[in-house]
Amino acid sequence: MNEEKRKKFLNQEIEGLSTKSVHSGEEDFREHSPVAFPIYQTATYYFQDTQGLWDYYHKKSQQISEYGRYGNPTVKILEKKLSQLEQAEDCLLFPNGMAAFTTAILFYCRQKDHILFTNDGYRGIHKFADKYFSHWGFTHDYVSFDLNEIEKKIKPNTKILFSEFPSNPRQRVLPLKEIAQLCHEKNILFFLDATFATPYNCSPLSFGVDLVLHSATKYLGGHNDLLGGALLGKKELLEELRLFQGLLGTILDPHTAYLLLRSLKTFAIRMEKINQTAKELAQYLESHPKVERVWYPLLKSHPDYEIAQKYLKGGGGIVSFEVQGGLKEATTVVDNLHIPRIAASLGGAESLVHVVVAMSYYDLTEAERKEKGINDNLIRLAVGLEDFVDLKKDLEEALKKI
Ligand code: PLP
Repeated sequence: MNEEKRKKFLNQEIEGLSTKSVHSGEEDFREHSPVAFPIYQTATYYFQDTQGLWDYYHKKSQQISEYGRYGNPTVKILEKKLSQLEQAEDCLLFPNGMAAFTTAILFYCRQKDHILFTNDGYRGIHKFADKYFSHWGFTHDYVSFDLNEIEKKIKPNTKILFSEFPSNPRQRVLPLKEIAQLCHEKNILFFLDATFATPYNCSPLSFGVDLVLHSATKYLGGHNDLLGGALLGKKELLEELRLFQGLLGTILDPHTAYLLLRSLKTFAIRMEKINQTAKELAQYLESHPKVERVWYPLLKSHPDYEIAQKYLKGGGGIVSFEVQGGLKEATTVVDNLHIPRIAASLGGAESLVHVVVAMSYYDLTEAERKEKGINDNLIRLAVGLEDFVDLKKDLEEALKKI
């Protein structure tokens, strides 16, 4: 096939997320014709002569970078692929999700700016805000997953509304369209961590969200073996952030970019399987007499079920559930599981599990945990690629111990 014809076809005709996750971003001809995209493991780039350097800086040449902190061909391919998957104009990659968050906050916010967070979410981000926002003169508040409450908590100096979609660990979701409209009326940036949804289950930018964050460590990486992060959105929003990122130094290395490119080839089929297994496990757990409550967005019993149905193609791999009893009973169940390891993180091939208060909330008092609505009997199961029958049997046996 003629390269130009193929490139045009791939850019204009392909629709499926699986085809995109295999081919998008890689359309360009490759020297020596390898099918897999090479790792450009280089710290710097040379120029034929000094004129080449002048041409590069004045955007008159094709060269993508002069130094590793400002760009890399392998990383560039990954940016293009993720942009296609997320239906974004542009993408920036980071060494992990936290770096994506902190770089964005430091770039967009100024002294005295206010940031509003929804009140269920990844503890690392909330901890960063609680402990260190004051260093830069930022203030912040937490608000429930409710449009009216959000409107009430917005201040004249609110710069960003930050939420997770769905949130960790209770899988709350916001009505994206309505919230985006509110944010735009008030001139606020709607910044959404869509790590749990992934581009497979939702395309937040198409509903008016301004900036999407992914911890690529999770489903995008998919194998519990790398750390990565991404920001996606409009070009105008990311253009200068790219320079800021290069100067701050929070960049993704080419080898990890290659691992992510490799992982994304199987992204859609992994998500399909994980969505299916997790939903079946959520249904199974909900019917279990020793389970008090299951937090899964596509169960009718979830408080945001109607919204989730509208925005989510699948419920993702996190099944949070509360067992009968308290910390002792939750611990007994988790400690008696054979397949999932007790670990943080999610989205990999291996299922992982933990008692929520023993992991992310270990440093809080009971009263503080209560205030956040985190119960001691809450277990978070991050479903991997194992089969439903085996995970169900494992849960069945562990639940018999309480
Ligand atoms: N966002 C969510 C929802 C997460 O669960 C995490 C990590 O667990 C992060 C962001 C931070 O990402 P990373 O661990 O890649 O820095």
